[in-house]
Amino acid sequence: MKKCLVIGAGFSGVSAACYLAKEGYDVTVIEKNEGVGGRASVIEEKGFVFDMGPSWYWMPDVLEQFFSDFGKQTSDYYELVRLNPSYRVVFRNSVIDVPAEFESLKEVFEKLEKGSGKKLEDFMSEARYKYEVGMKKLVYLPCESWWEFADWQLLKGVLKLDVFISMRRHVRKYFRHPDLIRLMEFPVIFLGGHAGQIPALYSLMNYADSVLGSWYPMGGMSMIPKAMFKLAKSMGVEFIFNQEVKEIRIRNNVCSEVVTDSGVFPCDAVISSADYYHTERNLLDKSYWHHSDAYWSGRVLAPSCLLFYVGLNRKIPGLTHHTLFFDEDFDAHVNKIYNNPSWPEKPLFYLSAPSVTDPSVAPTGKENLFFLIPVASGLDEISDYQKQDYFLFMCKKLNKITQINIEPHVEYLRTFSISDFKARYHAFKGNAYGLANTLFQTAHLKPGMRHKKIKNLFFAGQLTIPGPGVPPAIISGKLAARQVIKLFS
Ligand SMILES: Cc1cc2nc3c(=O)[nH]c(=O)nc-3n(C[C@H](O)[C@H](O)[C@H](O)COP(=O)(O)OP(=O)(O)OC[C@H]3O[C@@H](n4cnc5c(N)ncnc54)[C@H](O)[C@@H]3O)c2cc1C
Repeated sequence: MKKCLVIGAGFSGVSAACYLAKEGYDVTVIEKNEGVGGRASVIEEKGFVFDMGPSWYWMPDVLEQFFSDFGKQTSDYYELVRLNPSYRVVFRNSVIDVPAEFESLKEVFEKLEKGSGKKLEDFMSEARYKYEVGMKKLVYLPCESWWEFADWQLLKGVLKLDVFISMRRHVRKYFRHPDLIRLMEFPVIFLGGHAGQIPALYSLMNYADSVLGSWYPMGGMSMIPKAMFKLAKSMGVEFIFNQEVKEIRIRNNVCSEVVTDSGVFPCDAVISSADYYHTERNLLDKSYWHHSDAYWSGRVLAPSCLLFYVGLNRKIPGLTHHTLFFDEDFDAHVNKIYNNPSWPEKPLFYLSAPSVTDPSVAPTGKENLFFLIPVASGLDEISDYQKQDYFLFMCKKLNKITQINIEPHVEYLRTFSISDFKARYHAFKGNAYGLANTLFQTAHLKPGMRHKKIKNLFFAGQLTIPGPGVPPAIISGKLAARQVIKLFS
């Protein structure tokens, strides 16, 4: 039986482990932290259960597909509920609740701009096609050769659409009202670029976001990695936690073993789902670095974040599960992430309040809040005082829409920022979301899954194919596992 070691127990690592175990591989996952989940870890304090990372459950079909590959379904592990409204957006002079039903969403659009309901339909029918092709076909290609894209029927259909022009131009072809433009442009911010840099192919995100909907697994987002862990264990995968891999040893261009502080693990193949840069630069001998310093410094990273996990000693009536605060200058903040990397003065931010939907994540009568300010990866860390200022800034914004000052009600508060991403996950430049999905960092133009010299070393996760986000990370694990299986078949 072939022995495969997986470095890292985030979504991509556990996904890879499951696919390998299904094919009869002897699999061990080695993780530096205390449990599964990677960036989707949890903090449990004072009766609050905080999801540390992802909070939007999107593309439910991808997660369903993962479990069905093993004869299971998500409902075997957790209960999914659809959120309605999907989310709320606070603009300078208005607040929009984005309804779950598409017909109601069209009405919201129509109220802001006459004729935009029909345009939304047209926009989404194109986005739907991109989603069907992008998420059901292209995303599963290993990107080893451009010939993989030679399915002419498929390409013909896609190339008739807006694919390579920017999201900014694409959205403006349909809508004029500034709030609608923001609404349609926002999902790509987390892909790692402003709408002027992200190709219109990614309007598929709008389809995922507005039509497929926002979902929530009761118990929190950590229910997903816990379910994947259970599945992996049931197929015999071994997990070693609290052990950091320090070296991948190579003999004759082949990985022979992996070294931690507590042991040496022989193997036939390795999949590293740790941040790509960390694996290449810190775990391999210099002679095996296959990307130059210039290459890495030229990569565009998706944002990092300043996060606040906040437990309140009271409820906040009227709060929605997801709220986006877009009431400051949008372009100014986005500029500070991508063009002129620096800490924003008046940030846009996102607030998640899972206790609105799920009583199990906060003690009775209390609220579980998660504030996220997207910031440029690679910035110097700020002081606790500066973080406190950001928190007060967001409290004021929340006060404005809820008429409640949460500050005196804070029972638990923990921040997490760029230096924490580096320390906890070995994140390159402290990134939160990996590598940006800009045009020049899409598909083959991302760091590849296969090491160029070491034939049994593969990479998975959000810095390689297909990109950032929970569903792509799960797909990445599947693709990496396929590569190992191909090597030995
Ligand atoms: C704050 C935040 C919010 C997000 N929101 C969303 C969202 O709402 N929806 C969504 O779909 N996506 C979201 N994402 C993105 C999503 O969480 C990630 O894309 C995904 O979790 C990445 O999974 P991964 O397996 O690639 O990497 P990771 O989760 O980082 O897993 C890699 C693992 O490797 C381990 N590791 C690193 N070095 C070593 C070593 N030397 N030895 C052993 N182990 C090592 C790390 O500890 C980590 O556990 C968010 C991310 C963040 C940070």
